[in-house]
Amino acid sequence: MSDQRYVVVGGGISGLAAAYALRKKHPQAEILLLEAQDHLGGVIHTDRYSGYVIEAGPDSILRRKPEAIALAEAIGLASIGTNPGAHGAYIYHRGRFYDIPPGVQSGVPTDVWALVQSGLLSWPGKLRAGFDFFLPRITRPNDDIALGRFLRYRFGDEVVDRLAAPMLSGIYAGNIDQMSMDATFPHFKDLEAKHRSIVQGARQTRPAPPSSSGPRPSMFATFAGGLESYIEALSKSLGDVDQRCHTPVVSLEPSSDQGVEVVTEQETIVANGVILAIPAFAAATLLSTHARMVSHVLEAVTYADLAVIGALYKASGPAIPEDKTGFLVPRGEGFQMTACTYVSSKWHYPDVPEGAVIRSYYGRAGEDILAMNDAELLALYRREMHDLLPKLGDPDYTVVFRQPRAIPQYQVGHLRKMAAAVQQLRTDCPRIALAGSYIDGVGIPDCVRRSYAAVEQMD
Ligand SMILES: Cc1cc2nc3c(=O)[nH]c(=O)nc-3n(C[C@H](O)[C@H](O)[C@H](O)COP(=O)(O)OP(=O)(O)OC[C@H]3O[C@@H](n4cnc5c(N)ncnc54)[C@H](O)[C@@H]3O)c2cc1C
Repeated sequence: MSDQRYVVVGGGISGLAAAYALRKKHPQAEILLLEAQDHLGGVIHTDRYSGYVIEAGPDSILRRKPEAIALAEAIGLASIGTNPGAHGAYIYHRGRFYDIPPGVQSGVPTDVWALVQSGLLSWPGKLRAGFDFFLPRITRPNDDIALGRFLRYRFGDEVVDRLAAPMLSGIYAGNIDQMSMDATFPHFKDLEAKHRSIVQGARQTRPAPPSSSGPRPSMFATFAGGLESYIEALSKSLGDVDQRCHTPVVSLEPSSDQGVEVVTEQETIVANGVILAIPAFAAATLLSTHARMVSHVLEAVTYADLAVIGALYKASGPAIPEDKTGFLVPRGEGFQMTACTYVSSKWHYPDVPEGAVIRSYYGRAGEDILAMNDAELLALYRREMHDLLPKLGDPDYTVVFRQPRAIPQYQVGHLRKMAAAVQQLRTDCPRIALAGSYIDGVGIPDCVRRSYAAVEQMD
């Protein structure tokens, strides 16, 4: 047996990517992956009811950040893109669905004429958005700022509340007025630094249109059978890595000569190195005795609870447009639903039966959406859908996914605090490294990148 042993704690995408990178780096070492629940994947899970694909958590991987798709390719898993016939989402406002005005990039308008023509904003709102052309800079290179404060200053409240917040804060289930710009959309800061006006900067840096007349490559990807196929393929690719579910790690004992003692309910495993690929609150508990400062910083990271409702309509007909991916519901419109994806329009998964699948999202930072039980959530869904899409009818199948403490909230100053925590842990417990979605990016590619960095940090 090898005299080198590594333990990865947590079997979500971060843990699986860490185990993959460890196996590459240390081909002879013994590697264990310990997961508390009865399945791998963490928040990634696909319901395959009757051959349909209904995601419980994420549904897509951003191609622009290459790590996650490169990993899929490395293990021989082919990705699929979004339906080229479906373009963007609607935004709901006062009883109507509006197209997102052409030229809106990351929630920010760049095409003045399209904005003028859009019914989504009032005339004073459109005029206020134009202040961006004249206002001086508000950001400074070394200071973080709330995304909402920045965008409200440059474009006014209407652009933020009706356009930017539903588009940008949805990804984080966050409050745009508390979200760190450095940790979420730092390119706005770069644009302001270089061009002062965000609109002008975004126009100048807009990617050139594709040279060929064929369909544009999809920005997002998934896999036949949904994202759980990625988890299944990754798990399989790990070969002799010892992957154990139902194995929560209950404490860690770092000892300088022998390594780290990893204590589970069944046994104590001594490892040369440990990667914690678990949420911040769980890592905080394991580090509370030996790395108190780090533990305090991680404990302070708050999370949003989410509920996702999947629904299947076998004969929905035209009630669900084929050319849109769904709609966003801004705060203040009188609904608890934050967004809805027309799954069967957005993705043409191979080999799924006829019928329309939609997913609706509930829960924002600071809300206690999971105080409702499943029956209450379903009743809420039916009530709200009846108002939003009255022609939809009754679903043939519904499923409620409860995602407690699912998405970490990146508040102002987040990156600086996390960088300091990662650094401090190297001093306090050099054989333990941190990975996971709370450090410097919540997206799946960010998690993969972060896990690779954690593995690099190990001897
Ligand atoms: C509803 C939703 C939609 C999303 N949509 C997208 C999207 O479309 N695209 C995208 O890129 N990202 C999306 N995200 C974000 C992305 O899915 C997550 O950030 C990412 O999957 C987190 O992976 P992780 O492995 O870091 O954490 P997790 O998935 O939370 O996994 C951590 C694992 O650690 C285990 N664990 C915890 N404590 C212990 C312990 N003591 N011992 C052993 N195991 C432990 C947990 O059981 C869990 O399985 C979405 C997230 C949610 C919730």
